[in-house]
Amino acid sequence: MTIGILGGGQLGYMLALAGYPLDFHFRFLDPSPQAPVGRIATRVTAEYTDFEALEKFAHGLALVTYEFENVPVEAARFLQKIVPVCPPPQALETAQDRRSEKALFQKLKIPTTEFAVVDSASDLENAVRKIGLPAVLKTCRLGYDGKGQWVLRTSEDVQRAKTEIPAAPLILEKFVNFSRELSILAARARSGETAFYPLVENHHRGGILRLSLAPAPHLTPELQLEAEAAARRVLEALDYVGVLAIELFECGGRLLANEMAPRVHNSGHWSIEGAVTSQFENHLRAVAGLPLGDTRTLGHSAMLNLIGELPDPAELLAISDAHLHVYGKSLRPGRKVGHVTLRADTQAQLAQRLGQLPPFFQREEFCLPAAVAKSAK
Ligand code: AMP
Repeated sequence: MTIGILGGGQLGYMLALAGYPLDFHFRFLDPSPQAPVGRIATRVTAEYTDFEALEKFAHGLALVTYEFENVPVEAARFLQKIVPVCPPPQALETAQDRRSEKALFQKLKIPTTEFAVVDSASDLENAVRKIGLPAVLKTCRLGYDGKGQWVLRTSEDVQRAKTEIPAAPLILEKFVNFSRELSILAARARSGETAFYPLVENHHRGGILRLSLAPAPHLTPELQLEAEAAARRVLEALDYVGVLAIELFECGGRLLANEMAPRVHNSGHWSIEGAVTSQFENHLRAVAGLPLGDTRTLGHSAMLNLIGELPDPAELLAISDAHLHVYGKSLRPGRKVGHVTLRADTQAQLAQRLGQLPPFFQREEFCLPAAVAKSAK
């Protein structure tokens, strides 16, 4: 069975690595001739809106899925006429626009951050009156890793934003004083069977995910059930097939949905070594019509993103149960070029191993002191 994947970045790379033992073959489509999957799979270099190329790409494929959430919806809909496409293009469409995402959360009675729509400078005044300050102004489309976002704290910030904001649909969100950021990874099979990974605690710097702890320290069954109930509603409403990630804020012991991604997610990378079945394998099982795999964790894991630079592999791999993943991308500041997963049987052992990481990882941006303290408790 050959599976077509739109997008050829590290998520596609790890999907293929998970799929080869299951006897899947892969064909990728990505506009960049440097897309990392070129090292391990057939890669077609074409624009997502090149319909002639899409038609050729789809020839002989059993199904198409995606690893990039900003694939133009018209590409997914075009392919759907030729070959099964999952997750459904409607999920892609919903997740690409913060307003439709919020509307879905609201329809499904999933608590989300308070917000107002902003289409012009004058809307911004009204939105600020409604939401109050501080607030976060976000572009509805194409925001990622903190891009397309402005925190407004004072009326001067609001005045400045009025002259600087792009002429694009925006939302103004109440600034949430969350106690922590969490995410849930959920999978739904073609049969409708669902599976959930435990909530993960995420730490960001400069808008980029730096560290995930799985399961989230001090996770209560109530919080897990609340997240699963929300994810299940989204999966069912969209007749979803595949892995879905929902990013959440924990606030006063309750969860607020921030956004969702209709694909495997960076906060699920730990599952390669830290769960019985990884998010990548489960995505493939789901889209290929196979039963889902066990999502139980194997002890405790920490995942550290490598941004723009790589550590000395020998130093890192000297630590027991440390795993290095390098994506084969050229090194550039701000770019995700790999990740490390550190696994342990207990939280205390994880804290000890995090403390043993070489100096490269002990810099502030890896967010380790907080993680070590939490894991040690
Ligand atoms: P997003 O692109 O919506 O995932 O936002 C990126 C990051 O900005 C989040 O992971 C949070 O750390 C922060 N952030 C986003 N929205 C809010 C908010 N309403 N209040 C406080 N922080 C936020």
